[in-house]
Amino acid sequence: MVKKEIVSAANLKKEIEEAKAELVSRNKKLKLSVKTEAKKKVDKKKAEAKKKVDKKKAVAKKKAEAKKKVDKKKAEAKKKVDKKKAEAKKKEEAKKKAEEAKKKEEEAKKKEEEAKRTYEEELEEQLTEDEIKNFAIDKTDMDKLVNKVTEMIASHATKGILQNILWRKLKLSSRDGSRLALKLEKLGNITREKILENGRWTYLLLIKKIPISTISIENAPCLVCPVEGKCSTDGEISPKTCVYIEDWVLTELKTKKRHETN
Ligand code: SF4
Repeated sequence: MVKKEIVSAANLKKEIEEAKAELVSRNKKLKLSVKTEAKKKVDKKKAEAKKKVDKKKAVAKKKAEAKKKVDKKKAEAKKKVDKKKAEAKKKEEAKKKAEEAKKKEEEAKKKEEEAKRTYEEELEEQLTEDEIKNFAIDKTDMDKLVNKVTEMIASHATKGILQNILWRKLKLSSRDGSRLALKLEKLGNITREKILENGRWTYLLLIKKIPISTISIENAPCLVCPVEGKCSTDGEISPKTCVYIEDWVLTELKTKKRHETN
């Protein structure tokens, strides 16, 4: 009986030991499980935090790259503008230099031209006064030409006319024109004013004395009038009441106006 009780106590002790061992084991497993879960949660949180950080970093990187691109574009645009400005400046300087060079060239040309003697001055030296006064153009009525040119110059009153323009109108060569101008001056009909026109010396022709033109009276009715002998200013037949004279004067005026317009 006693032995049986001892055995039972031993078994009980054994069972208790086993139960204790199992409890310890379970406890260990439980602790391990709790630790694992906690670690998992921590890892998960760390992973999420890392993910957030990575995401932020990616966004920041993207922003930085975008900024870099914008900065690059800005820099390129600025470079282009600077280049254009530099080119424009260069062009402006080149233009300025060219203008200065042109101005200097023009001044030099002007000085050179001023120092030059004119063809007319040379003619005046070469020809005698009589040679100038007797100048004639082949197959040309010089009296008529002198009168015509003088009247044309007179029609420009005090302003005068450039000789090259006049010679062009009359289809005269500059050689003949220059001699004719000298002749007109020697005859006392005109004066010549030496002027620099478009960088070249020329002469402005001004009227001095209007000659009496025979052309102006060659159609006068009095020259062929059958009653000219009876005509007087205070007689019955008089220029004051003469219709021929009136018609002739009106015709002459119209002709003169037409010439002036042409
Ligand atoms: S003014 Fe008459 S009328 Fe007298 S001369 Fe002349 S045209 Fe003859």
